[in-house]
Amino acid sequence: MASSQEDQMRFWSKVDKQFLGCWLWSSTVGKKGYASFRAQGKTSTAHRFIYQVFNGPVGKDSHVDHLCRVRHCVNPSHLEAVSLHENVVVRGQGLSAENSRKTHCKNGHEFTGKNLSVVNGGRRCVTCLNKKQREKWRDNNPGLKTRILRGHVSEVSSEVY
Ligand SMILES: [Zn+2]
Ligand SMILES: [Zn+2]
Repeated sequence: MASSQEDQMRFWSKVDKQFLGCWLWSSTVGKKGYASFRAQGKTSTAHRFIYQVFNGPVGKDSHVDHLCRVRHCVNPSHLEAVSLHENVVVRGQGLSAENSRKTHCKNGHEFTGKNLSVVNGGRRCVTCLNKKQREKWRDNNPGLKTRILRGHVSEVSSEVY
């Protein structure tokens, strides 16, 4: 499906974008919970539309999946095209199925909304990433230790991303 500049501008005006985590659709959401968007005279799901804007056309036999399981999320990095065949055969077993079943990080934080960051198709826990970033930053800025201990680091670390 081709999309015009105008379609894309209209698209983004309907998205409640958060820098991290899910980009939630603030317009029409269909019965199944998927965001719906009309472009080029056709109504399709918004996540499928934006996936194709970023990654090129997706065939009819493929389905655009949410890594985050939030159906009205339109963050392109949370989306993955899966052919229907793959969905049935591969997903049932092996590493990718394992990965897509994961609901918590190894430290027990739940992968939901704001706490999910997708890097190279893998899930990352935002709480753990922030903690790691904070520790790294602290090692590189030993003089600021006292300020960090007073809790000022939270503003700093959110800008790192
Ligand atoms: Zn998402
Ligand atoms: Zn975690």
